[in-house]
Amino acid sequence: MKGLERYAVVSCHVERPLDDRVWAAFERLLVRRPGGFVVTPLVRPPHAGSGEDEELWLERAQRAASLAPLGHHTHWGGPTQARPTRDVDAASVVRGEVEWLRARGLEPRYFCGGGWYVDEPVAEALASFGYVDCSSTTFRQGYLAENAPRLQLEGPARVRLPSGAELLELPATHSAGMLARALLRLPGLVHLHFHDWELVDRRRAAAIEMLLRVLGLLRHPLTADELAHRAANAGEIAWAEATIAR
Ligand SMILES: [Zn+2]
Repeated sequence: MKGLERYAVVSCHVERPLDDRVWAAFERLLVRRPGGFVVTPLVRPPHAGSGEDEELWLERAQRAASLAPLGHHTHWGGPTQARPTRDVDAASVVRGEVEWLRARGLEPRYFCGGGWYVDEPVAEALASFGYVDCSSTTFRQGYLAENAPRLQLEGPARVRLPSGAELLELPATHSAGMLARALLRLPGLVHLHFHDWELVDRRRAAAIEMLLRVLGLLRHPLTADELAHRAANAGEIAWAEATIAR
């Protein structure tokens, strides 16, 4: 999309907010904003089946929401099962989580499916809640099967769903490793994503910190809200042309 080449945005899949070390490292990053980046926390709600502490989760999610535009990350089978297994109704899990969050006063605006999963019913559910989706990527994940449901786009786009609803997509362009290898030949807009648990590995944390600082020199940092605003008139693409599989 033209006009966004000079900008960068950063989001984090917050998968382990109940792990004290992971949370402390992530919270420090949210507060310090290296490179000037307000990292969008895409937070995974607690999984009742795994006995995760809802009260502590809420406290931490509220803290994240006070520091940055809040996002929502769904794992369809608990902490370690990101993509839905066959027996799961993916859209109804997302709807249930959104209702759970809203009943507790949290209204995330951004979303990313676990393992980059998104299918048509999920996309329709996201649009119905007014979400902006970050489940798409500009690149293909080597670990996913060729026909695995996912969304690949060249940049921010308004995806027209079969119902007629519109879903704004802000695709991720780089993982931390990809960005480190691409710093000298960055394309246009950069949307860096990483995981909260990467921050408790000292080498990875230092690499992410360095990447944010360098990226902040090469690109003007935007918040997710600012990027969503600037991308509101992005080109439109039909769902059927954008998805890899259904
Ligand atoms: Zn995840």
